[in-house]
Formats: sequence, structure tokens, C-alpha cells
Amino acid sequence: MKKLIVLIALCLSCQVFSQTDEDVLKQIYKTALVDGKSYTWLETLSMDIGGRLSGSLNAERAVEWGKAELDSLGLDKVWLQPVMVPKWVRGAKEFAYIKAGSGETTNVNICALGGSVSTNPLGVTASVVEVKNFEELKALGEAGVKGKIVFYNRPMQADLINTFSAYGGCVDQRYMGAVEAAKYGAVGVIVRSMTLNIDNLPHAGSMTYEDLPVSKRIPSAAISTKDANLLSTMLKLDTSLQFYFKQNCKQLEDVKSYNVIGEITGSQFPNEYIIVGGHLDSWDLGDGSHDDGAGIVQSMEVLRLFKTLKIKPKHSIRVVMFMNEENGLRGATEYAKEAKAKGEKHVVSLESDAGGFTPRGFSFDCTEASFNKILGWKPLFEPYLIHYFIQGGAGADVRPLKTDTNITAGLRPDSQRYFDHHHAANDTFDAVNKRELELGAASMTALVYLFDTHGI
Ligand SMILES: [Zn+2]
Repeated sequence: MKKLIVLIALCLSCQVFSQTDEDVLKQIYKTALVDGKSYTWLETLSMDIGGRLSGSLNAERAVEWGKAELDSLGLDKVWLQPVMVPKWVRGAKEFAYIKAGSGETTNVNICALGGSVSTNPLGVTASVVEVKNFEELKALGEAGVKGKIVFYNRPMQADLINTFSAYGGCVDQRYMGAVEAAKYGAVGVIVRSMTLNIDNLPHAGSMTYEDLPVSKRIPSAAISTKDANLLSTMLKLDTSLQFYFKQNCKQLEDVKSYNVIGEITGSQFPNEYIIVGGHLDSWDLGDGSHDDGAGIVQSMEVLRLFKTLKIKPKHSIRVVMFMNEENGLRGATEYAKEAKAKGEKHVVSLESDAGGFTPRGFSFDCTEASFNKILGWKPLFEPYLIHYFIQGGAGADVRPLKTDTNITAGLRPDSQRYFDHHHAANDTFDAVNKRELELGAASMTALVYLFDTHGI
């Protein structure tokens, strides 16, 4: 008898899926792979528009394009949400070389970091001090740093399987490097590019001066990993070598831009929102295909698949193309602010901003109870090789929407090749695989469908 009760209890506790869930997921994946739109959309966004830094003409063209495409989907609402964004321009291409004691020069590949000041019109020439972290910098102090260029050369940790963790372990050099170096009188900052690849491409990204007065702000650039290794080797042979760099970037006045938003209004809970999104802006060196054109077109595809498959959601489903993730997060901040002011209840916010590579699963920032419920859906994803469900950070654009009770989530694609392209000139359309992109869009749609159908 006891055995029987245990057996019954076991059966009741195991999740039995309705045929419907399995069928719907099958339809979602099939339609995304056979008749998907995400890849064609990405081709237009990347090839016809291209890199779209906040405040640029291309960013505005991307806004117009995004709205027109959403308008064509027959959604219930499509609108633009105005937001003021910073406008930083790179200007003419940067130039840099290492000058050995013999007078011989070797050109190296650099790019100004986003938000950096320019050098003076003639450029900066100084000797170089290499450090791996801020502790080493502090130990050198003013005596070792004043009048020099600080070269941050801590590589991304290669043995971390999640390359985002390796990135997270290094990015302080890029973001805070100038503030720290300026404390000790440095005249410039050169940062090893945030990639595990050893190649010639400098990788852009944002940096800050915090509240440093303008007169104390020093120019800050990224150097390719190959040239970082070269500079480090040459410094070991000749500590008095000189480094020259010239950059022509500028911070202009803020300009008006927009988040692009589309909605299918829910049939049962129209005031409860499930959103999917990515960021519409990108760095300027490539065309922003992986970061984050992929997330944009995958999010658009979620709503298109709902429409195509005639799935009528209970909750309102929104796609949000956030503006200015890269150098300000103003779009996400504005979206969350307005949502709060209007009392809009965001139950799930799913972001795709980790590249258009093969999807492995999702990360969730949610309660233990919600996570356990989500884990019950794992078998539904098994046929599609989606198996990685973890609790953890969601993404920068959805973070401002987090409350104690809702769920923020992020698509987790394979991360091994992401930082080969991240913020560099090779973040281009040809680096995105059609099927991998489509599988990501289908996985997001499947997850949104399950949240909408079964609640959180
Ligand atoms: Zn991104």
C-alpha cells in the first residue's frame, strides 16, 4: 500500500505535458527554420544600414527601419518611445606606433574607447608602463606613472568555459582604466582588447571618466591583442621605448533618439507584459550583427511567429528594441521609468544580447519557486538541444525592470566565438549562421509561449 501511494505521488509530481505544448513548440521551430524572417531582417540591418552608434544617422535609420518592419507585421500597437542619448563620434581613424630606442617605428592597431577624449592634434608621445591590474598601478604610484602612458595588459582568462565570465574579469581595465591612471598623472591609457583571439583587431567598448574635471581627462584606446603582446615583449627588452598615438574622437551634445516598441495585446491579461528585446544601437567598427542585430531580429521574430502561427497570447507580448545599450543604457532606463510611472506590470522580460550563435539555453533572475517551475519545461526543449537552464544575470537592458516578484531572463547561446567579434570590425553579417540565429529565435518564442500559457 505504502509503495502504491509513493508511486502515485511520484506520477503526480512528474510533469505531464499536454500534446499541445509539444506540438506548438514543433510548429514554432519548424516555422522559424523553414520560413523564418530573422536572417533576412539581419541582412538588411547589417548590410544596408550597418554600424549604428547612438546618435548617429545610422541609428536613426535603424529606428525607422525597425518601426516600418513592425508596422508590417499587423501587431496591435507599434510606437516610438523618445529618449535623449549621448552622441560620441570617432572622427578620423586612429594612428599609433611603437618607437624603439633605435628610432625604428612599428605601427600598431588601436581604436579610441567610447567616451574617450581625443589626443591633442599632434598626438601623444610618452614612455609606457605596463600593469596587469589596479593594484600594480597603485604600487607604482605617481613616481612610476606620472607623464607616462599606462598599458593595461591583463588577458581574458582562457580556462573559463563561459567567456562572459572571462570578459567580466577584465573589463574593469577598459571601463575604469583612465580614471585610475589619471590619479597618478598618466597622460594616456592603452588597454588590451577584450578578446581571447590573438589577432590584429582592436575591440571598442565604453569607458568612463566618472566626475573627473575635463582638464584631468586622458585619452584612452584599445590595442589589438597581437600588438599588446608585441608591446609587452618590446617593453621587456627596452623599458624606455616610446609609444605614440593620435585619436580624433569627440563627445557632442545629447540628441533625441527612440526605443522601438511593438505589441500584441493579451486576450486575458492585457495589463501584464511579457517582453522580448535586444539593443538597436551598436559600436561603429563593424555592422553590429552579433551585438546586437541578432537579438533585435530574434525578438522581432518572436512576435512574427505568434502572428504567423495564430497563437493568441493571454498576456500582452511586446518587442522592445532598446536604444543606447552600449554607451549609456538610456533606452532601457527610460523604458523602465515609463513602465513604472504607468504601473505596467512586467511579468517576464527576456533579452537576447549574447550573440547569434547556437542557443544552449537561458539564464533566469527569479525566485527559487519560479525557477523550479521553469526547470519542469526542460524536457520540452530537449529535442532542440536546449539544455542549459541556470539562475543568474539576465541582461543589461532588462535589468532595470527587475522586481522581487517578476522574472528577467537572457538567451544563452554558445559563447566560445562571441568575443572574437565583440565590438570589433569583424562583427559582421557573414559571421552569423542562419540556422543558429533562427534556432535562437525559435527558442525564445517557445519560452515566451510557455510563460504565457502556464504563467510564472
Ligand atoms: Zn550588446
